[in-house]
Amino acid sequence: MRTLLTLTLAALCSAGALAQQAPPTSQSTGSATTPFLARRGLVRCGTPNIIPGSWNFNPPSDCTANSTNPTAAYEPTEIWEITVVFHILRDSNGSGNVTDARCNSQIDILNEDFQAMAGTPGSPGYDTMVQFKLATVDPSGNATNGINRHTNSTWHNDGGNYYNSLAWDPHHYLNIYCNEASGALGYVPWLPQSGTPGSNSDRVVALYSAVGRNAPIGAPYNQGRTVTHEVGHYLGLHHTFNGGCGGGNCYTSGDRICDTNPESGPHFGCGNSTSCGGSDPVSNYMDYTDDQCMNEFTHEQTRRIRCTLQYYRPNLAQPVGGGGLGTSYCQSNLNSTGLRATLDVAGSPTVSDNDLTFTVNDAALNQFGYLLMSLNQGNINGFGGSMGVLCLGAPMIRFSGNVLNTGNNGTVAFSPDLTNLPQNTVFLPGDTWNFQLWYRDHVLNPTSNTTDGISITFQ
Ligand SMILES: [Zn+2]
Repeated sequence: MRTLLTLTLAALCSAGALAQQAPPTSQSTGSATTPFLARRGLVRCGTPNIIPGSWNFNPPSDCTANSTNPTAAYEPTEIWEITVVFHILRDSNGSGNVTDARCNSQIDILNEDFQAMAGTPGSPGYDTMVQFKLATVDPSGNATNGINRHTNSTWHNDGGNYYNSLAWDPHHYLNIYCNEASGALGYVPWLPQSGTPGSNSDRVVALYSAVGRNAPIGAPYNQGRTVTHEVGHYLGLHHTFNGGCGGGNCYTSGDRICDTNPESGPHFGCGNSTSCGGSDPVSNYMDYTDDQCMNEFTHEQTRRIRCTLQYYRPNLAQPVGGGGLGTSYCQSNLNSTGLRATLDVAGSPTVSDNDLTFTVNDAALNQFGYLLMSLNQGNINGFGGSMGVLCLGAPMIRFSGNVLNTGNNGTVAFSPDLTNLPQNTVFLPGDTWNFQLWYRDHVLNPTSNTTDGISITFQ
């Protein structure tokens, strides 16, 4: 086991994944293991321990590698959606495939676990309000199913810096690579607080046979929780046993979270256990227990995930539906700033309250645009020579009577008067209207683009 572990770490380091890191400790890779893992020469998780002080940012003091703000400052209030791309790296002998169905089921499992969906194994957890979907548009604006396959034995064996050839802009996509994962069930090269989010090497790596529901690796690691665990790291979470029993302030020791009990080391299997004077967090996704026994992220882990997204991955997630008021649809295309402009809405769906505010983020800078609305949805790529997608169907109405400007930040805030709508329009209770911003993008040719669409059912 020790030899295998050494080879694993050597492979990781030679791939450059840990070039900025102190070597992982034996604890982080699981010096203790199970017969299942030992027979296969696998370690549970190859994510290195995080060395506080090694981050590359000037982070807010309450969301760092060694500090977590437990207050409501980072409480989720709206769903943030992350777009996922799978890269399946097969061996030249044909092994190592992951079917589309398994990729889709893995997305389902992520949503069940991160949103603690009722009626699923993840229901006991706290709802992080983080959502995942497979990419429908690639970085060049082409349609995709979000699953790419490559046959390359070096890449299949997790070598060759494949991410430099394959990564989809890691600022905007969660890149999940499925291969041999260097002898682990999975790993990330670093936590965002200590690495380089947005670089090509920013990724989740998962053992191909452990991806998806009823995965071929078999019990006890066949229910997709390897990816849930690694995405937890990707969103800033430490192992629950990081730092052992810790001591002192539980927000600045151990896993920097107080509502996950400290434990002396990783816990395998499914039984309850105690250490550090209390019960071990054996049902937490960030321990090493069996897939069927993991069923929760905690409230404070949720807040750490949200602050990580806010400060270290600001362009990764898109808000969905502005606090539940509206529903986003019809993803936008990249514009000249390399971002996808998004439309969000806040306020009340009750027309008589008259307090809607639409906001646009990540549009091209200092450009004009119009907010459009329609009772009908559409999905026309490149309509009228636009770079964007027309998400509305005819007939359309120019909602913003005046031209809106995206300003120096590529943002727009628009609060319409619902008692005085254009063309004598009235929003009736029960009606669902669709909205979208069309805007100029002078760098591109054609010189216009669009946000995604958002639909609102009024009351
Ligand atoms: Zn881990």
